[in-house]
Amino acid sequence: KRALVWFRRDLRVADHPALAHALRTSEAVWCAFVLDKAILAGLPPDDRRVAFIRASLVDLDEQIAALSGGRARLIVRHADAADEIPRLAAELDVEAVHFHRDDEPAARARDARVYEQLRADGRAMHGFKDHVIFERREILTGAGTPYGVFTPYKNAWLKALHARPELLGDCGSDVDGRALAAAPRGPWKDGAAVPALEEFGFSHRATTPQDDPGLRPGATGGEALLDEFVDRIDDYDATRDFPATPGPSHLGIHLRFGTLSLRRLVTLASQRVEGGSRGAQTWLSELVWRDFYHQVLFHHPHVVGHAYRADCDAIRWEQGEHADAHFAAWCEGRTGYPLVDAGMRQINATGYMHNRLRMITASFLTKDLGVSWQRGEAYFARHLNDFELASNNGGWQWAASTGCDAQPWFRIFNPVTQSERFDPQGAFIRRWVPELAKLHGKAIHAPWTAKPAELAAVGLALGRDYPQPIVDHDVAREKTLARFGSRGSGS
Ligand code: FAD
Repeated sequence: KRALVWFRRDLRVADHPALAHALRTSEAVWCAFVLDKAILAGLPPDDRRVAFIRASLVDLDEQIAALSGGRARLIVRHADAADEIPRLAAELDVEAVHFHRDDEPAARARDARVYEQLRADGRAMHGFKDHVIFERREILTGAGTPYGVFTPYKNAWLKALHARPELLGDCGSDVDGRALAAAPRGPWKDGAAVPALEEFGFSHRATTPQDDPGLRPGATGGEALLDEFVDRIDDYDATRDFPATPGPSHLGIHLRFGTLSLRRLVTLASQRVEGGSRGAQTWLSELVWRDFYHQVLFHHPHVVGHAYRADCDAIRWEQGEHADAHFAAWCEGRTGYPLVDAGMRQINATGYMHNRLRMITASFLTKDLGVSWQRGEAYFARHLNDFELASNNGGWQWAASTGCDAQPWFRIFNPVTQSERFDPQGAFIRRWVPELAKLHGKAIHAPWTAKPAELAAVGLALGRDYPQPIVDHDVAREKTLARFGSRGSGS
């Protein structure tokens, strides 16, 4: 039997269900990745994620070569994947294409097209689970309905995992690469398996030392990052909320592109939890949030573009020039609220934003500026290295109080209080908003409260060196309460 493994968001060979199955059941196996024109067309030429993917493909190619004893290489094409995969399957004359299921609506539509074409050609398509621990209808309430509240979902998830520990086994430990077959010669310069970025219309963006450490590509980069994180996982619960502290793992991008296996991370966290680690317990919970939002997207695909809660589609968000100007100030990190601006400057410069700041900036956009969550969601989608449709949508709808199990709409983050709590010394603000670096004490969180003499002493003029706050939080808060209170009433 001959098989093609279609790599997409699973750029590793270790613990790879589709590859393991193909190697166990076939005499000849090819591995391919399509730089999908349908996806790449919408991205800026210096998109960091494309550079990450390209470098991860080089890493994957090396792993495939090593697994096959130097015989096989990764096949890389630049085309519309929905056409290219059936074409490649025909060229290699395989009986089946193996892949990992992806529940994003666009991916499902693409995979359905590939399936139809393969079927018409007399070939099979075998899907495997990889991106989540439990998918689709695997975790349902007693009434057989999907969960809309996180805590009972998490409890059911943990119970189900406890009952099926085999789910976490390494599915690739017993396979060998003898069946991996030599690839047809690719079209790339100097016979390389993976093209340079320029060969398919992209370029590198200059990086800074403050860049997201998660950007170290490939399984090799992911492993190195994981090793570092394991040393501090036990403190995760205590450190995770403070953006100036190296608390979180930065592994999001490795989960997004599958350069690390989620099962491996869950295994590691579960073992630490058994050993009594509270940090690992909190971290494991975050991985469960990821599964939670994936199943929300699967069961409620309308959340792409619409509020999870139908009544929230009636909310009248601010529109017009004034809202556009506010949105631009938010995007550029010049709202006059230092921690909000610090977060936006972090995402703009690095493609990463700390989770606490994602919550604060999203809340600020929707509840202080009254700008719709969809605009913020689209901005994050374009800029986040670890952009994941399900989690981004879930996070935005949580912050905007339009989602399932969301922040109640009348609970509105105060951006100054959040700053005092989570960046108490202003260290994160000073790093990202250097024009405020010399401010002392509480003024770092709200420069407009500083005495004129204090500002003059550090040579700072508000409105010249740093903006005055673009809204008054207390006024904005009242407007938001009214906006939510009147939803659905037509007023
Ligand atoms: P860690 O704190 O080390 O967490 C480990 C992993 O757990 C993350 O990599 C992620 O896969 C998962 N995780 C953590 N928190 C959440 C969460 N609240 N929901 C779902 N999964 C979670 N996460 C994304 O992966 N992609 C996104 O596009 C995304 N957009 C977001 C937008 C908003 C408005 C908000 C509030 C949150 C968003 N999150 C998103 C969730 C969370 O902020 C990030 O997963 C986290 O900051 C990534 O950094 P890390 O890898 O260092 O996380």
